Amino acid sequence: MDVPWLLVAHGAVTALVVVSFLCGQWPIFEGTFVQSINHFLTSGAYRHFLRLVQAACGTGARDLVLGVEQYCCDRPNPILQVFYVAIIGGTYFIIVQSSFKYIPGYYVSVLHRYLSIVVVSIGAILFVLTSFSDPGTVTSENVSHYVSAYPFDNIIYVEKECSTCKITRPARAKHCRICDRCVARFDHHCGWMNNCIGEKNTRYFVAFLVWHFLLCLYGAIILGFIVAGELKDKKVVYILTVYYGIDNSFSGLFPHVAQWLLAVHNTQILLAVFLGIIALLLGGFCAYHVHLCLSNTTTNETFKWQDYVFWMKKENAAKASTYTLKASINAGSSEAQKSPPSKWKTFFSRSGTRAKEPVVKNNIYDVGWIRNLCEVMVPLSERRSFSSKKSE
Ligand SMILES: [Zn+2]
Ligand SMILES: [Zn+2]
Repeated sequence: MDVPWLLVAHGAVTALVVVSFLCGQWPIFEGTFVQSINHFLTSGAYRHFLRLVQAACGTGARDLVLGVEQYCCDRPNPILQVFYVAIIGGTYFIIVQSSFKYIPGYYVSVLHRYLSIVVVSIGAILFVLTSFSDPGTVTSENVSHYVSAYPFDNIIYVEKECSTCKITRPARAKHCRICDRCVARFDHHCGWMNNCIGEKNTRYFVAFLVWHFLLCLYGAIILGFIVAGELKDKKVVYILTVYYGIDNSFSGLFPHVAQWLLAVHNTQILLAVFLGIIALLLGGFCAYHVHLCLSNTTTNETFKWQDYVFWMKKENAAKASTYTLKASINAGSSEAQKSPPSKWKTFFSRSGTRAKEPVVKNNIYDVGWIRNLCEVMVPLSERRSFSSKKSE
């Protein structure tokens, strides 16, 4: 009886750690233990580890750890690319070894043996395209081309020079400190791709996410059908009810069927659960990036807009305080003539001030979801019409 409780506790702790790590910085968790766990996981634990290394092995060992950290996090490196290839290759190899013998099965046709090779290969091609294609590197030769692609909105982008590249930084571009270059329509630096995601490879990146989400879902469903086919093929329910006299109801059969599945098909079930979890995580990430494409925003711009809204709200609050202060001074000067205003009157007059001005996020690059999507698929700087317009 102890084992299920142990499993439940293990599941709850894992869920708490994953949710804290991924979502701990969301405003909804502000001031909660979820945010504390997030701080510990993202920076606190590493600081403690560094102190421990220094105390146990000296400053040399600490510098070595910092050097490894710098190589892994601040320099282009293929560690996560190798990890991706190992995960994809390893998972596919295990599926081939453990589950292809059940194809063709009761529900799964032989076609899936070949279809699986095709879908995994397409995933690998999208990975190569995203990793090794030019994201839209801005150089002194092509800077004028990129500058004319997008206007400066003078809100989150103003015309200025990149202090490292010594060229005008086009609107929507950013200097990637890891790759040490300016990238047009910069989204983010992707460690998994060991490449920046920019104007020219956002299409491959989003296609990669969508494809891998569908790939994981496909794998999990096919594995589910393999197991269901085996259940049917081996007449497990029939044997259980007829030969073992188990009650032919869901509650009666479920423990015995589950026991049989875990004993005979534990590899398929583990693989299906693994693929299902990855599909869930990818699904969320995928939806976020599709939303960014449809609204013609980048991840980098999302942070910029967050900062803009934060500072505008601060500015409006400061204006409101100044207004209230001026009003109270005026009221004080005429106090001799008039009776003091009631608290309610002050409250309502204050609520009518500019503090209630809504902060508007005016994204001038959003030209409607169809054109936004076209812009991701065929970047402005690659369009023939754009080149001819420029040369006029
Ligand atoms: Zn630069
Ligand atoms: Zn980069």
